[in-house]
Amino acid sequence: MTFSHDKLPIDGETLAQYVRRVRASLKNSQGEIAAKAGIHIQSLGKIESGKTTRLNAKTKAGLSGALGIPENYLDAVCKGASVTQVITLKICPHCWKPGTEADPIWFDLRSKYCFLCGTLLRDRCMRCNEPIMSLKFKFCPYCGQPYKDVNNRVS
Ligand SMILES: [Zn+2]
Ligand SMILES: [Zn+2]
Repeated sequence: MTFSHDKLPIDGETLAQYVRRVRASLKNSQGEIAAKAGIHIQSLGKIESGKTTRLNAKTKAGLSGALGIPENYLDAVCKGASVTQVITLKICPHCWKPGTEADPIWFDLRSKYCFLCGTLLRDRCMRCNEPIMSLKFKFCPYCGQPYKDVNNRVS
């Protein structure tokens, strides 16, 4: 499963709009997503029509897998919170390639270390401590420090 920035919730987007948009980007029907998520198609219909605004744990886990988005994105849109309030962009300084998609496992709040190489994940600039704002940036916009560990040093 790869992570795409298209799947980040847009500020102000409702759960219904968000789920519909991500499903459309996957070109899947409601039936296909409901089957992958292990939920009833009517449940998905209620979510997409805005009748359901809170997700139980099973539905959330199912949708997360079916849509390829971390569960905390769904939490964010349910709460109406700004994504940046709930999502920490974290990268492995070894495995991440600047400008490319990152693995959603890194963004999981419980992830502290890279699942591939065990390196401590990085969510902020090593030099000035400003949080990573975008994975499209190769360098910290505040001080110019590369996000990726160029010297292959583990910090
Ligand atoms: Zn790694
Ligand atoms: Zn910096």
